[in-house]
Amino acid sequence: MVLDQRPVAGLGNIFKSEGLFLADIDPRRAAQNITAEELDRLWEAVIPLMWRGVEQHGPTTTTTPALTAAGHRHYVYRRRGQPCLRCGTPIQMLRQGALQRTTYFCPVCQR
Ligand SMILES: [Zn+2]
Repeated sequence: MVLDQRPVAGLGNIFKSEGLFLADIDPRRAAQNITAEELDRLWEAVIPLMWRGVEQHGPTTTTTPALTAAGHRHYVYRRRGQPCLRCGTPIQMLRQGALQRTTYFCPVCQR
């Protein structure tokens, strides 16, 4: 599963959920079925978010400045049951891995 932290050790829950959303990848997919193109999209989504976190020196916001100004700090993270900011579908949460860490995702936008 994508939550396997061996390839990308230390990727936090916020960046995991938000990066997979921005890359349109369903967190329930097996990691070995993720294409090279999808991995590139995930990389290109997560790295800027992590840099923003460094620059903000504190709680990370992952949405665009306009969405942040409207009160939306994250696209999916900790938004279970709230409407997806893209399609309106309720955000879902699941627990994955031996540690049962939480992952938030849109079941329509992420495939
Ligand atoms: Zn959606």
